[in-house]
Amino acid sequence: MLEDTFQHKGLRKKLIEEIRRKGIKDERVLNALMAVPRHWFLDSVFLQHAYQDKAFPIEEGQTISQPYTVAFQTELLQLQPNQSVLEIGTGSAYQACILAEMGVKVYTIEYNEILFKKARRMIDILRYDKKVQCFLGDGSQGLPRFAPYDAILVTAGAPAVPESLLFQLKIGGRLVIPVGDNKTQKMMRIIRKNEKQFTQEEFENFSFVPLLGKNGWQIK
Ligand code: SAH
Repeated sequence: MLEDTFQHKGLRKKLIEEIRRKGIKDERVLNALMAVPRHWFLDSVFLQHAYQDKAFPIEEGQTISQPYTVAFQTELLQLQPNQSVLEIGTGSAYQACILAEMGVKVYTIEYNEILFKKARRMIDILRYDKKVQCFLGDGSQGLPRFAPYDAILVTAGAPAVPESLLFQLKIGGRLVIPVGDNKTQKMMRIIRKNEKQFTQEEFENFSFVPLLGKNGWQIK
């Protein structure tokens, strides 16, 4: 079932060239995208679309991010091998596997139990379990148990930057988070300069599913 044919690899190569043309420069990020067969993470009805640069539905009304978005966020994290990364919003686990291919230790947290279970199974089947640990819970509050992190990646749209995430960064650590309303969010990168000071940069607009939970959008 989990086959990766020459045809898949060829389509993936083309997709990566497209992402390179769109402005992603870090070869390590592009190599990680080549290493992970995206079609393994999609529902069967969308399989033939796996190598289009588009987001697709997974279960529970959620989406697997567009490959360009995955590349953009991963590049902003400026990862070095053996660093530790917290991902908030495991979803299909595709992004978590990309991070693992960057040579980092990944902690990923998902709010939805069905997606959490499916993602954890996927991580085991693909043998990423030494590099990726899956957690079930409200990631809008981070995951203090394994903090501080070299990088924190939020893959759902937040109404504001949760302060609790800032203080789970190491000095020099990077938080990449889309912030905005329920339609579009601006990609932001916040770097912890020292105990109390942070710098903030803004990048282009994206469209993510909402970050829920205590520091996210409240469901009424
Ligand atoms: N990174 C994923 C895409 C995630 S879509 C991938 O590679 O496939 C966003 C995910 O964030 C959804 O699965 C959603 O259930 C989850 N989510 C939303 N609010 C959350 C929260 N407070 N904590 C953890 N996960 C959350």
